[in-house]
Amino acid sequence: MSCQELQTMRDAYLDGELDLAHSLEFEKHLRECASCARSHDELRSLQMAMRSDTLRFPLPPGLERRVRSAVRDESGVASRLFRWRWLIPSVSLGLVAIIVAGLLFSRTSTDDLVASEVVAGHVRSLMAGHLTDVASTDQHTVKPWFDGKLDFSPPVKDLAQQGFELIGGRLDYIANRPVAALVYQRRKHFVNVFIWPASTASDTKPTAQVRQGYNLIHWTSSGMTYWMVSDLNLAELQQFAQDLIA
Ligand SMILES: [Zn+2]
Repeated sequence: MSCQELQTMRDAYLDGELDLAHSLEFEKHLRECASCARSHDELRSLQMAMRSDTLRFPLPPGLERRVRSAVRDESGVASRLFRWRWLIPSVSLGLVAIIVAGLLFSRTSTDDLVASEVVAGHVRSLMAGHLTDVASTDQHTVKPWFDGKLDFSPPVKDLAQQGFELIGGRLDYIANRPVAALVYQRRKHFVNVFIWPASTASDTKPTAQVRQGYNLIHWTSSGMTYWMVSDLNLAELQQFAQDLIA
């Protein structure tokens, strides 16, 4: 893929609309081309910033009063004043409704974006035969392997006793940042557990969803965001999540 081809596909990629083959080529080019990677990073940051809560501004106090008095001064006509009195509150209500709807929508779509990246990461690790960068069943080998590769230290648990064997770890890239991927195995099923620092301190309970036939469980605990993905049945995956949190 050339730099120009990458540019034409960039919007589709950012909106999660690119198919897997093109996504892989796209990501390959980003790894090899510093200038495309830089401009892509900038666009991603912009996209995230546009969804941020900090773009919400409350109406300044007294605005409604000022508008009302301005209208009164201008018109002086009783019937017009009557109409405006009803119009102003309904306009502000409408505005609030639009802002609230926008916020709800952007929350959902951010989580949606991450969920589809999590599935893509899982599929990619299986397809490319690139499941682990460090292959070890020993948590004391896997955990230190991440040192110096990430700006955080992911918790690595050995859950072989519970039937989930740790088989290694890998670096991945999700939600616009490098993340830790821990790989566990249960019978013939692989489970990717993606971990990175949470944006909020508060814990959230595990929530499950199905996407492209894969089960996903997402939660936040002890300042870390967790996304678990596998073709394993949901009941066993939920038990695994509980064991990880415990
Ligand atoms: Zn390029």
